[in-house]
Amino acid sequence: MDVRTLSATPNRRDLRRSNGHPPGDQDYVLQDVIRIYREIDVETIALRGVDLTVAPGEFVALMGRSGSGKSTLLNIMAGSDRPTAGRVLFRGRDLATVGDDERSRLRGSELGIVYQSQNLAPMLSLVENVRLSAWLAGRPLAASAAEHELVRVGLGERLAHRPDQLSGGEQQRGALACVMAARPSVVLADEITGELDSGNAELLLQLLRDSHIAFGTTIVLVTHDPAVARTADRVVELRDGRVTGDRSLS
Ligand code: ADP
Repeated sequence: MDVRTLSATPNRRDLRRSNGHPPGDQDYVLQDVIRIYREIDVETIALRGVDLTVAPGEFVALMGRSGSGKSTLLNIMAGSDRPTAGRVLFRGRDLATVGDDERSRLRGSELGIVYQSQNLAPMLSLVENVRLSAWLAGRPLAASAAEHELVRVGLGERLAHRPDQLSGGEQQRGALACVMAARPSVVLADEITGELDSGNAELLLQLLRDSHIAFGTTIVLVTHDPAVARTADRVVELRDGRVTGDRSLS
């Protein structure tokens, strides 16, 4: 056992921040991450040596103008893209060495990812999608509990709808309900409020915030909107593939 866990009784904030693993461990450690996109005659350097640490239970907004490298960085943190150079440790595991099966397992249980365009199962209703997502994470849910997750994102009137019967914004909220139902320790979200009206954007941010406070969920939220970034406790600023700012808001 880590001696630090014996040396003091953790306060509530420490417990929330510990997020299910020993103090001192980090959810993410990124070291000198470089990503170069190479096409036949052009080379784009999207990330130019990013160092970033995310502690358990942090709520980080990743900000920057369009083209600054935010989505590239999030994809690398999600393990769906690999850096050209540098290291990405997720809870102590080097994502470059994690196989496909392990990556799928991580995505189901420890890591939840919400993108702008969503991956809902097209043949299933929203309730079935939520139940499937929770079941894949080893957390089977009764239909009533799945319905509750959808009510929380304002989709209580759309429970039996399939994704193709929903607007883009509704699909996005449904996808967030699926991710939250799986109750991952870490949520990565890419511009999830971009397509939504302000009321629904507020609702989703509140949901992330609630989960962060109630369960100590670590959140990394990509946004170009300073108002959205203010929901977070820490703002990391990217410019031209580099971290140019890192400040705490709490
Ligand atoms: P952001 O999310 O901040 O808008 P991105 O990470 O999408 O920024 O892009 C960073 C840079 O990498 C941009 O110059 C973009 O044009 C380039 N880029 C992103 N994806 C690709 C790709 N698949 N192929 C080539 N260049 C890309």
